Amino acid sequence: MSAQPEKLIDSFGRVHDYLRISLTERCNLRCFYCMPEEGIALREKSVFMSAEETFAIAKEFVSMGIKKIRLTGGEPLIKKNVSKILHDLASLNIELAITTNGILVDQYLNDFKQTGLRAVNVSLDSLDEKSFERISRRNYFQRIVSNIHLLVNEGFQTKINVVVMRGVNDHEIIDFINYTRDLPVQIRFIEFMPFDGNNWNWEKKVSFNEIMQRVYTKFGYDDIEHLLSKPNDTTKNYRIKNFQGSFGVISSVTNPFCDTCNRIRLTADGKIKNCLFSQSETDLLSAFRNGEAIRPLIIDTVLHKKKSRGGIDSFEDPDNRKLFQNNRSMTTIGG
Ligand code: SAM
Ligand code: SF4
Repeated sequence: MSAQPEKLIDSFGRVHDYLRISLTERCNLRCFYCMPEEGIALREKSVFMSAEETFAIAKEFVSMGIKKIRLTGGEPLIKKNVSKILHDLASLNIELAITTNGILVDQYLNDFKQTGLRAVNVSLDSLDEKSFERISRRNYFQRIVSNIHLLVNEGFQTKINVVVMRGVNDHEIIDFINYTRDLPVQIRFIEFMPFDGNNWNWEKKVSFNEIMQRVYTKFGYDDIEHLLSKPNDTTKNYRIKNFQGSFGVISSVTNPFCDTCNRIRLTADGKIKNCLFSQSETDLLSAFRNGEAIRPLIIDTVLHKKKSRGGIDSFEDPDNRKLFQNNRSMTTIGG
């Protein structure tokens, strides 16, 4: 058995101190790039981690150096006992964060406050109600926008995730940046990534370079400030002079940020993935239920992490693309 490290370090020296836990594969939206219209096949409740199992496994990770936990999904706020999970995790003395579609944020605001969760990422792919409905196949636009304002007014650190897709919402890049004129939010443009069944193709993604080209054309070089990034930041951040908010681009497709990756993912059914694009998973939940030690499994999974994007260097090679498309859909990995 490997020696127990104080920190989770992979073979490239990257320290892993950030765990993303998916609480459920299910969702109350059907964003076409993430979920099939009919939803995903429902599985027995028993295959998923209970609140108690989620906490026990998270605790083991924290004892191995995890300092930040982000809850995601599917939609984490539709998990029945999310309130208990939040309160349990808060007792671990870590930084708590959540990525949500925003629909139920108002119902959990007090839990966020009580547990010290301050960082909320909300996904909103269009500022146009009809277009949002086409993308998400549901009509919750007003509710989400009103919850974004609620979060800002209550002082939460609020980021808005926008998956940029050619011919779908790429004409709204400047509108999103203008949204930050009076609202202190950070817009994060995400390059569209390929996953099982989401009809990705190279032409649909709008690259970091193209996004920035459009921004420079509109605002001019002198009005765009390049903001400093934190060490493990996945986003290159900018602000338009005198705007209250900022914006950034997550360039996972054209320019991955693997060199400083500090993340590990735990799926709702208790598997760990050492990379969003990893082709393999380690079943922690079965081991946990069998009374086996999960620590060696965690160490081993981190040690086997590939240098970049689960071992696939480029999206341009069609053979590589096939590998990406065999990966679980985003909603079952946890975005
Ligand atoms: N339901 C929550 C939400 O929408 O924020 C959390 C889960 S969602 C899978 C997490 C993030 O992954 C969202 O910001 C979503 O836009 C992003 N995402 C999903 N599929 C994607 C894809 N194919 N390419 C890029 N980002 C994607
Ligand atoms: Fe649901 Fe989030 Fe996927 Fe949209 S991106 S379908 S909100 S999990």
